[in-house]
Amino acid sequence: MTTTAASRTAELQQRWNAALLGTYGTPPLALVSGEGCYLTDADGRRYLDLIAGIAVSSLGHAHPALVAAVSNQVATLAHTSNLVINPKAVELAERLAALSGLPGARVFLCNDGTTAIEAAVKVLLRNAPASRRRFVAAERSFHGRSLGALALTGKAAIREPFAPFGFEVDFVPYGDAAALDAAVGASTLGVVLEPTLGEAGVIPPPAGYLAAARAACDRVGAALVVDEVQGGIARTGKWFAHQHEGITPDLLTVAKGLGGGLPVGACIVGERYATALGKGDHGSTFGGNPVAAAAALAVLDTVEHDGLVDHVATVGADWQRHLAAIDHPLFHGVRGRGLWLALEVTEGTAPAIEAAARDAGFLVNAVAPDAIRLAPPLILSAAEAATFTAELPAVLDAAVRLSE
Ligand code: PLP
Repeated sequence: MTTTAASRTAELQQRWNAALLGTYGTPPLALVSGEGCYLTDADGRRYLDLIAGIAVSSLGHAHPALVAAVSNQVATLAHTSNLVINPKAVELAERLAALSGLPGARVFLCNDGTTAIEAAVKVLLRNAPASRRRFVAAERSFHGRSLGALALTGKAAIREPFAPFGFEVDFVPYGDAAALDAAVGASTLGVVLEPTLGEAGVIPPPAGYLAAARAACDRVGAALVVDEVQGGIARTGKWFAHQHEGITPDLLTVAKGLGGGLPVGACIVGERYATALGKGDHGSTFGGNPVAAAAALAVLDTVEHDGLVDHVATVGADWQRHLAAIDHPLFHGVRGRGLWLALEVTEGTAPAIEAAARDAGFLVNAVAPDAIRLAPPLILSAAEAATFTAELPAVLDAAVRLSE
């Protein structure tokens, strides 16, 4: 988007820079409202949302079910703390445990992805002997910014300035089953893996990788933690992305799309570890908050009643096929599954493509120098997807001009 000095966006950018820590740089856009899969910026421009606040706004924007659930709950009881029971938290935990298919599962409700991973780490460390406290995680993985999750994150540039952490992690190349198997030994407490690398650029592993991880964990008695913070809650055309591989993790983390835009996360713990944490071992003031839990229940209900799991599978597969047919020198293919895709583009051109798409009225994400991430609301229609497909060649042409 082109901003003039007088624009509302430019004014907000100046105030943002002055008031907030510099952790996000200066965003190019200020968004003020949304409806369905469309968003409007501070200067009145409209965009088709193909990133959903990074895989979060699963029902799009201002979805009536989410609006009603949140409005009713905030007008009834907004907060309780965990000194008392709130029925929405109970219902949400029951629903997640059942959906996960993890036998004997119990749930810790938290606020986002990083706190879901923290909970998983504490569940495993709680009763671990001194001889078995190492983790295995993947190079290029992303698990969050708080210190336990950061310790497991396979991007040295964002991890190492904050090291050391309280436990050791062995990093292995993602997708290499033999390397993973070799790294897992008697000192391994847990293996933590994304079902597809999200922040690294929507990079799926070869078929059988998660099954190999499951086998490696079983060989030594380690736990398999699958981090579905980005890939879970129907994004890939199954409730959870690991279900494409037919494996059962020991722990499962979810967040992002679960609340449809309200901050909520969960660590779902299978029976082997379901009683590892006792009273006083962990907690969260806001975890299971009634408003956040009501939002998550509205998301789960809507996904179920509107058949969004199948919708995502169908729309995603068709969209991927149509995108793959595009012929352009900057475009080399499309990877991913469901509505979690990446356009493979010429190295270094992704930022210009993101900017050109924005100018053309589409919000996408240059997740890597050679990849454009698409993670739209799960309600995206085939017709909405088709408008982007039709415009993409012109967007790529514009990106060539922007790069010159
Ligand atoms: N795990 C995965 C796989 C993620 O993609 C992310 C965020 O992108 C996180 C954890 C951290 O989530 P949050 O930013 O909500 O703390």
